[in-house]
Amino acid sequence: MGYTKQKILNMAETEDVEFIRLQFTDLFGTLKNVAITKSQLAKALDNKIMFDGSSIEGFARIEESDMYLYPDYDTFEILPFRPHQGKVARMICDVYKPDGTQLENDPRYILKKVLKEAEDMGYEFNVGPECEFFLFHTDDYGNPTTISHEKGSYFDLGPTDLGENARRDMVLNLEEMGFEVEASHHEVAPAQHEIDFKYGEALETADKIMTYKLTVKTIAKRHGLYASFMPKPKYGMCGSGMHINMSLFNKEGQNIFVDENDKNGLSKEAYNFIAGLMKHMRSMTAIINPIVNSYKRLVPGYEAPTYIAWSATNRSPLIRVPAARGLGTRVELRSPDCATNPYLAIAVCLAAGLDGIKNNLQPVESIQRDIYSMTDEERDEAGIENLPKNLYEAIQEMRKSDFVKGVLGKEVFKKYIKAKEEEWMEYTSQVTDWEIDRYLGRI
Ligand code: ADP
Ligand code: MG
Ligand code: MG
Ligand code: MG
Ligand code: MG
Repeated sequence: MGYTKQKILNMAETEDVEFIRLQFTDLFGTLKNVAITKSQLAKALDNKIMFDGSSIEGFARIEESDMYLYPDYDTFEILPFRPHQGKVARMICDVYKPDGTQLENDPRYILKKVLKEAEDMGYEFNVGPECEFFLFHTDDYGNPTTISHEKGSYFDLGPTDLGENARRDMVLNLEEMGFEVEASHHEVAPAQHEIDFKYGEALETADKIMTYKLTVKTIAKRHGLYASFMPKPKYGMCGSGMHINMSLFNKEGQNIFVDENDKNGLSKEAYNFIAGLMKHMRSMTAIINPIVNSYKRLVPGYEAPTYIAWSATNRSPLIRVPAARGLGTRVELRSPDCATNPYLAIAVCLAAGLDGIKNNLQPVESIQRDIYSMTDEERDEAGIENLPKNLYEAIQEMRKSDFVKGVLGKEVFKKYIKAKEEEWMEYTSQVTDWEIDRYLGRI
């Protein structure tokens, strides 16, 4: 796009923009805003807007709390779901320290670092996410519940569906912000939906995931519903995932995962990439499945992966290579969920894939059959490992990984593990309804 300062000032003027949100994302994937009025826009574009970084989770120590927001001009966008008079625009920002260097703890910076490495190797990284969510009712106080009255399921079309209207409105709003929506459909569980947008360059896609979630939640609310991206909101039903589709293009815009002479139509780099993902999967799971609830989704029987395997034919494994070839040749990772910080998730995926390429890693044989119908012995023989079974196991795996430490940087690595360990401790010391039901009357 190549927006300039003057172009943005002009757009703000002619479009009657009154407020500008300067956005960034904290370590745990929460979108943050500093809102300014039009009078401050020029100052913001000169990178002069300051905020207190010590109040943002995972950002900075108290003694270095002054942070500056450097807006990425190309992310200037008018939010279509805000008032049409006195409009609200936003820009996504990088976070800088007072000495003019980038904050190492900023997730966007962490992704940029890995992207730079890919670029130096001659690659552009393309990512297409599939974010699933539930549309629930709220209670009398406006708080989300897990109640829904709809009965629709996969690809259903029905006049009874409140969610259908909301989803249509979401698509229109996303399109107004330049999203190319490729598909939007009902998912397997009642009240579960998916809206897919076209893949693009990785940083842009990470930014878009943040915008997507905000838009979906905002429009749901307008329809009297609550959109939740929680990985497993309901026991006994499918959870919500965020499959990540990935490919590497060269500088000429060719997809380098393709090789027509290979039996699967895949290049050496594609195999290396898959092998890298598989090698680091157990240690990066705490990033792509970051919360206690993530692991309630990763159980057998609900289309979510539980074993570390790949296939070019089968839909169920952790890593799938969809049938499309040519530009659409891609590796799909099926374990991530929307609780993840998209910047960190995409950073570890790319770094793992690049590690595979740099070290010429070879994946084990692909799986042709349904892993779930294999016995434990058969899986052992085929060398198929489990994904971590819970957040605790995932954190322990991450702690051992110099790879993840290298991607995140020492300080973020430490902060992340500490926070997740506290989360696990708090969870595991709860006395749950399940325990009361099961034990109270028996013991
Ligand atoms: P599924 O069959 O897994 O449900 P979808 O059609 O829902 O797949 O989503 C496919 C996603 O993959 C879309 O976001 C699409 O833009 C993306 N995609 C297509 N080609 C590529 C590519 N070369 N690199 C990365 N992502 C891609
Ligand atoms: Mg899909
Ligand atoms: Mg636009
Ligand atoms: Mg889906
Ligand atoms: Mg998919």
